[in-house]
Amino acid sequence: MAATRTAVVVGAGIGGLATAGALTRTGWRVTLLERTDRLRGEPTALLLWPGGLRALQALGLGSGLAAISTPAPDRGLRRPDGQWLVQPQPAGPDRQPVLAHAEDLHDALFAGLGDRVEIRTGVTVQRPAAGDRPAVTDGRHTWSADLVVAADGVDSVLRPRVARRSTVVSAGATGWQAVIPWYRAPKLPADLATDGHTYRPGYQFFSASLGDRGSAGASRRGGRYWRAIVTGAPRPEPATTQLGLLRRWFEGWHPPIGELLAATEPADLVQRELRVVRPAPARYAVPVGDGALVLLGDAGHAMAEHLGQGACLALEDAATLVAAVRAAVPGRPLHAAVAGYEAARRPRLAEALRRTHRLAGTGPLARRAPAQARRREQAAAVATDWHPPPG
Ligand SMILES: Cc1cc2nc3c(=O)[nH]c(=O)nc-3n(C[C@H](O)[C@H](O)[C@H](O)COP(=O)(O)OP(=O)(O)OC[C@H]3O[C@@H](n4cnc5c(N)ncnc54)[C@H](O)[C@@H]3O)c2cc1C
Repeated sequence: MAATRTAVVVGAGIGGLATAGALTRTGWRVTLLERTDRLRGEPTALLLWPGGLRALQALGLGSGLAAISTPAPDRGLRRPDGQWLVQPQPAGPDRQPVLAHAEDLHDALFAGLGDRVEIRTGVTVQRPAAGDRPAVTDGRHTWSADLVVAADGVDSVLRPRVARRSTVVSAGATGWQAVIPWYRAPKLPADLATDGHTYRPGYQFFSASLGDRGSAGASRRGGRYWRAIVTGAPRPEPATTQLGLLRRWFEGWHPPIGELLAATEPADLVQRELRVVRPAPARYAVPVGDGALVLLGDAGHAMAEHLGQGACLALEDAATLVAAVRAAVPGRPLHAAVAGYEAARRPRLAEALRRTHRLAGTGPLARRAPAQARRREQAAAVATDWHPPPG
């Protein structure tokens, strides 16, 4: 009988959870290491683009999705005064993103782990461990396996082993997000007509509904979601002050932006600096003895989230990796499988990185609204066009 193949997945974010569950379902014995004491998502929402949705289906996680997600049709791009930069475009079939509460998605991925993944929380991996097998250590214990998956996010401690030259730099912008629960979300006449993206150089705002007011809704964590991205460093002040700044920066912008910020409470606010892995890794996988170490999700390709698809790219990575290693045994077959993963992901990630860097407004053209609008559409196309490898 063939020996059981073993994997260690470092990081229980969206990428790590999706990978750990799917590897187990294809016969791998998986240990999941997470530095926090509890596995849970952030109290924000995520746009899941068609590429990410197809990845979830391929990973066997698509069935419960309808219950926790809300269609997010294109509602166009406006100037702060409400004038259209881009009119809403009806999406073709299979081309519309959905909005899901990040905690709901996290719960669904956690449920997908089943009862066979060994979960170790409160473990902060420090580095890869030396030896002739892939291994990691937290300084006290060492975990070795045939396959180590580095899904430990943008500050990955395992990335240098695969991509020595890549480091993390600030994208020069900060994101704030909140979900205002329905019971205190502003009641707006024809509010859906005012949702969508609004832009002026250095400032972006996006809002959408998560479920329906007044019904049990698509999500028990429903409400009005908004996200603001502003050029500049994260604010060190308390959330109350940050909220005051946001209200000032977006003062006078078209409804419902002021109403949403007024209804937001400091405890709703999630601030995150946008950071980028640069240069893009030349490698996403390296052989170690008969096994391999692979980068997945933000650990390999965190990018400026002006187009918000990092979680979807992590899910695509997971679906591609699991398809590649499904039947691979340690030694040459596993080396070939992870080389296949790398070959499949590198051009896709290079394209997404190229577009997100342009969209992030680093070039002079990106400061002009029409160019910004065009690039936003191109970026959305990147997030839509991916299909999983044949199973
Ligand atoms: C403002 C903003 C809005 C966004 N909106 C969207 C969106 O709408 N749609 C979308 O697709 N993406 C979006 N993203 C991007 C998305 O949030 C990330 O790309 C995604 O969460 C990356 O998932 P991950 O699993 O790779 O990493 P993470 O979610 O960062 O997970 C890494 C995990 O590893 C753990 N960990 C880290 N270090 C260690 C260690 N040393 N040892 C053990 N465990 C460790 C962490 O605790 C964490 O649980 C947004 C990002 C921002 C900043």
